[in-house]
Amino acid sequence: MSSLKRYEFWFIVGSQHLYGPETLKHVEEHSKIIADKLNQSEYIPCSVVYKPIVTTPDEITKVIKEANYDENCAGIITWMHTFSPSKMWINGLSILNKPYCHLHTQFNRCIPNEIDMDFMNLNQSAHGDREHGFIGTRLRIPRKVIAGYWEDKDVQIRLGNWMRAAVGVIVSRNLKVMRFGDNMRHVAVTEGDKVEAQIKLGWQVNTMAVGDLVQEINSVTDAQVDALMEEYKEKYILATDNIQAVRYQAKIEIALKKMLKEAGCGAYTNTFEDLHGMEQLPGLATQRLMEEGFGFGAEGDWKVSAMTHIIKKMSEGLPGGTSFMEDYTYDFTIGNELTLGAHMLEVCPSIAENKPRIEVHPLGIGGKNDPARLVFEGRSGKAIAVSLVDMGGRLRLIVQDVEAVKPILDMPKLPVARLMWRPEPNLKTGAECWILAGGAHHTVFTYSVTAEQMQDFAEMMDIEFVHISKDTTVENLKQILFLNDIAWKLK
Ligand code: MN
Repeated sequence: MSSLKRYEFWFIVGSQHLYGPETLKHVEEHSKIIADKLNQSEYIPCSVVYKPIVTTPDEITKVIKEANYDENCAGIITWMHTFSPSKMWINGLSILNKPYCHLHTQFNRCIPNEIDMDFMNLNQSAHGDREHGFIGTRLRIPRKVIAGYWEDKDVQIRLGNWMRAAVGVIVSRNLKVMRFGDNMRHVAVTEGDKVEAQIKLGWQVNTMAVGDLVQEINSVTDAQVDALMEEYKEKYILATDNIQAVRYQAKIEIALKKMLKEAGCGAYTNTFEDLHGMEQLPGLATQRLMEEGFGFGAEGDWKVSAMTHIIKKMSEGLPGGTSFMEDYTYDFTIGNELTLGAHMLEVCPSIAENKPRIEVHPLGIGGKNDPARLVFEGRSGKAIAVSLVDMGGRLRLIVQDVEAVKPILDMPKLPVARLMWRPEPNLKTGAECWILAGGAHHTVFTYSVTAEQMQDFAEMMDIEFVHISKDTTVENLKQILFLNDIAWKLK
């Protein structure tokens, strides 16, 4: 069973009393069948919970109040099998604080030739869902609208994808981020308004003393390290003689994980400029923690750290992988222009193509001992790069579609995990658009989540969304950015 099954989506079907009890009985039966089948679908990662049909303003308001306060409820899915006058929904929908999907479907796939007025009165979502849709639009509630036959794979995939975006919302609203040290000195794009981020996204971003981490590292026992070393040997290729350096990373991993767990944090940051008392910059330790689902941002970048965690949770159980990433250097070979992405150390092995090697090499920054790190190549395939930037007064989420490729070079002297990709629509236009949009050099790089899901997330969180895709041109992007700027100032 998917670990996301603990998140419930309440299936709320509206009607009214105009049609008599017989019709309502059918509405109920059909709704239960749909909820049951969706629940069993391999494309639906979360639980679909049937709720008794609602036919009056009081019933509607009551179920939405319950959804608001139920911790397991990650969102609601509405459908109007018949007609449900939408003024009945105003009081309920206007207090809704959970993600909302309007599933525009109908119980029967085809119209039977023997159709009569009874059949038409019962199966009239083409009619009822338009009334329902209007009130969502009139109330200006952010919501997903998915139209199509409920048993079809594409409809279920879209519903499942939206659920994962909604899981991102619940994770975001409960997220705590632990920071060790501040942002890297003088850097702008990794900064931001933490109060605004908490208001909009729910993130509690707070600092802890590096000295306390050092104390935890020093209290890790040899036996604990021995056990973790066994795991390293099993999962990775130990390609170094400097075992002490690897053991020190194991200590960092154990200590960091303990602190994160005790504080209930899903993400953390550090900076090479504030490692007082530590012998190495966390490399292997951070890579391991990311592999377990923790978010990470280097140089104090709490925004990318939080987004890494959220995207990892959204894509739980899916193949592909998600990592903290950085645009590093370009290859301008004509006709095959590519970006090389990496970081000093901290790339998540969930995106590794091959078995990672544990290596120890000097690090030019930080002035500490040579850190152990995992070295590997990232896998090829379609992916997205995600960056959250603070525009001053609002947050902007930028997503770029990319195609990761097998690195065209061996790069034997580059002792870090590496990845190569082609940004859409191509490197030059893609980079121009990214820079015009203000995208950071740090990103969340994921194979497991789509741009549409990130757009859903941004809408639910009420933050700006900018998508750079195969169809983007500099001209149309400039216009979007200009109009967004005005729109968000008026909001
Ligand atoms: Mn960096």
